[in-house]
Amino acid sequence: MKLYPLFADLSQRAVLVVGGGPVAERKIEALLAAQAAVTVIAAELTGRLQDWVAEGRVVHRREAFRDDWLDPVWLVVAATADRAVNRQVAVAAGRRRILVNVVDDATLSSFHVPAVIDRAPLTIAISSGGDAPMLARLLRERLESLLDHSLGALAALAAKLRKRIRVRFADMAARRRFYESLFAGPVATLLRQGRPDEALAAAERALAAAPTGSSGSVVLVGAGPGDPGLLTLRALRALNEADVILHDRLVSAEVLALARRDAERIEVGKQAGQHHTTQDGIHALLLEQARAGRRVVRLKGGDPFVFGRGGEELEFLRAHGIPYEVVPGITAAVACAAYAGVPLTHRDHAQSVRFVTAHCQASRDTPDWAVLAQERQTLAVYMGVAGLAELQQRLIEHGRAATTPFALIENGSRAEQRVVTGTLANLAERAAAHAVCSPALLILGEVAALATSLGWFGAPPLGAAVHAIRAPESRQPERADTPARSGLLAAIHRCRH
Ligand code: SAH
Repeated sequence: MKLYPLFADLSQRAVLVVGGGPVAERKIEALLAAQAAVTVIAAELTGRLQDWVAEGRVVHRREAFRDDWLDPVWLVVAATADRAVNRQVAVAAGRRRILVNVVDDATLSSFHVPAVIDRAPLTIAISSGGDAPMLARLLRERLESLLDHSLGALAALAAKLRKRIRVRFADMAARRRFYESLFAGPVATLLRQGRPDEALAAAERALAAAPTGSSGSVVLVGAGPGDPGLLTLRALRALNEADVILHDRLVSAEVLALARRDAERIEVGKQAGQHHTTQDGIHALLLEQARAGRRVVRLKGGDPFVFGRGGEELEFLRAHGIPYEVVPGITAAVACAAYAGVPLTHRDHAQSVRFVTAHCQASRDTPDWAVLAQERQTLAVYMGVAGLAELQQRLIEHGRAATTPFALIENGSRAEQRVVTGTLANLAERAAAHAVCSPALLILGEVAALATSLGWFGAPPLGAAVHAIRAPESRQPERADTPARSGLLAAIHRCRH
């Protein structure tokens, strides 16, 4: 069930609770905390409810429920043990368009009561739409232990200073920055230590001293290979402080979803052959956004300094006097190796690893094939899908054994990851047969053979050679190999997307 979340102001507003048992008591306790004007209808009340009635905090009516009890109320809770009575309340409320909660009956309810973490004035409410209340409760317990009790005091302090902060920082971005420093810095620490007066004094000092203008800056952030779990904590923080995010096409939607909601997102993606924004265009955009005083996150797939042109962007920023920081990311070679079970170095197989690109325009130099063809080293080849045939030919020409194993990893670390294995002799053919598309990374070298035995993520490697009979002891591929020609057609079809 998909629900619309809502925090209701019930202060001094009439709410009816039908039922006087322990469940009703719990509901009424929460309603009283929200200062609702509660009337309870029940033949009998729990001891605490009787106390609240005696103290004048709750009005008690001993009569049976009648539809017209609902006329003056904003909300109604049906908490009796009698399903027929609960249904009667729900039907009557529905007729009057009054929101009703029937305890433990999602179908009769028109509003649900969430699991709540109370750090008043801060409230966190969790709902599973009635589908998995135990999970919601579990989450609540976890969050309870994560969220310090001083959060409420922090929110109260922010409320106290709010007007003055608004007056001092007319600029939204500067205001947000001030709040961030307030919530993360010494003021929060003092509150955690139970020293509210000192916290307030520190906040006031900070308010007087903070710069009122906002100066722009750029954080060059590596987004990793796609799985949001591989983002660094620092990257997450930058994403949550950003005013604007300039991201590549390669950055996954799941990673972008973790960024501050209000941050503007601009795709400046580039893919081989399809230039959306030129590098100069990206530079101009960085400059324009930073000069407008915004905090810019330049978000790149993998690591910004590995075939990411991050260096060029920093040179440009330096030349224009824009302050910057760099947050590294997990580069595709490292991620793909991990998620395919291929150690990039191995005492028995490879003493070094080279990160290279097969995309000719990405490098101004021609590759030193003799060096690349050396044995007992691992090549991690980026941007390779289109250049595999040439790579295969050149490496063999320069002496790399045709039997050298490879693992080609498409969409590494993502749910749709595929790994194709084989030997250098049939590299291009197998890539075509399996319609491998970008982004894909090639790992070539003795270590690649380990994908078959050490792979752990996603489907097993597509390992058998085209048309080959499968060896009975080898790990079986999930899907049968397609003949090269239909594979090629499939490749053309798949890669269009
Ligand atoms: N800066 C990036 C690389 C950008 S070049 C990084 O550090 O990873 C783009 C190439 O990276 C793609 O053509 C592909 O070869 C590789 N790549 C990026 N993400 C990948 C992924 N999830 N799976 C496989 N290869 C990937």
